[in-house]
Amino acid sequence: MSVYKAEYIWIDGAEPTAKLRSKTKIVPTGEDAPIWGFDGSSTGQATGHFSDLVLRPVYSCPDPVRGGDHKLVMCDVLMTDMTPHPSNTRAALAEVAKKHAAQEMWFGIEQEYTLFDGVRPLGWPTNGFPAPQFGYYCGVGADEVFGRSIVEEHMDACLRAGLKLSGINAEVMPAQWEFQVGPASPLECADQLWLARWLLYRIAENHGVSATLDPKPVKGDWNGAGAHTNFSTKEMRKSYEPCIKAAEALKEKHQLHIASYGFGIEERLTGKHETCSYKEFKYGVSDRGASVRIPWQVALDKKGYIEDRRPCANIDPYVVCRLITTTVCGA
Ligand code: ADP
Ligand code: MN
Ligand code: MN
Ligand code: MN
Repeated sequence: MSVYKAEYIWIDGAEPTAKLRSKTKIVPTGEDAPIWGFDGSSTGQATGHFSDLVLRPVYSCPDPVRGGDHKLVMCDVLMTDMTPHPSNTRAALAEVAKKHAAQEMWFGIEQEYTLFDGVRPLGWPTNGFPAPQFGYYCGVGADEVFGRSIVEEHMDACLRAGLKLSGINAEVMPAQWEFQVGPASPLECADQLWLARWLLYRIAENHGVSATLDPKPVKGDWNGAGAHTNFSTKEMRKSYEPCIKAAEALKEKHQLHIASYGFGIEERLTGKHETCSYKEFKYGVSDRGASVRIPWQVALDKKGYIEDRRPCANIDPYVVCRLITTTVCGA
């Protein structure tokens, strides 16, 4: 009998930031990956004496690591009565996305991350620090960038998986990189971002390197890592006034958003290193020191999208997409 390997991927109950888990099921060729289960007592998700939890496939794609007919299967976590587990943030986004479907929300998330070799960022000297930040952003050459082979392999893998990657770049801090997912609908963008993160960890693992989404992986005068969240509604893509209205709506709900924009946000949003302090809210054209940036092209075209620069690299995109959709579409 012919079979394929389905890698079931889900989000655990780790605090304060959830992590990814995965395991493999052998499935007969021609059949869809079925509902499956796991031991919630080993992932911080068991409640009371009930350790059995359910994995429900929500998004699947070709597995670019194993190749062939193998698949990656993104799942959400349910109780055995098929209701969402308390750690399941996707279910709430699904509801909100459906409620506001008429506004055709699109998201594009810029995922920054840092490659580590043991306890040190990849390529950093054993003692002391690399030269201060300047030449690294979009740099080239062995003295400027570290880990490009991993980054290229990850990009190819995402494309083979059919994920809507829109690009990659080397970041301001050496060993820090970025990839962008989108534009796509809220659920599609968030599901794909989680899968792209899993692929990043998995591919870096083959190189003996780890990737972290820590928003401030090195203390001091080094840029933190964000997950700038670009978004647009149908109306924003047609005219300018809805773009400004969206920024104003975010202003009204600043505290609510900050509270869910990633653990450790106070350390990253200091007002330095291309950020606006978490204590205030500002928006402006081309302003990388603002909470929300209106790209220059958008100000020129008088339509398009805006960028929420506050989310940290370690966000749960299901939560961030839900908050932005509710705030902007409900205003
Ligand atoms: P930055 O200049 O901030 O580094 P990037 O090019 O890294 O910007 O990322 C911009 C993101 O915005 C991409 O993911 C892109 O797909 C997304 N994007 C572009 N147009 C739209 C749109 N109309 N709605 C939502 N997202 C968009
Ligand atoms: Mn970017
Ligand atoms: Mn960036
Ligand atoms: Mn950006």
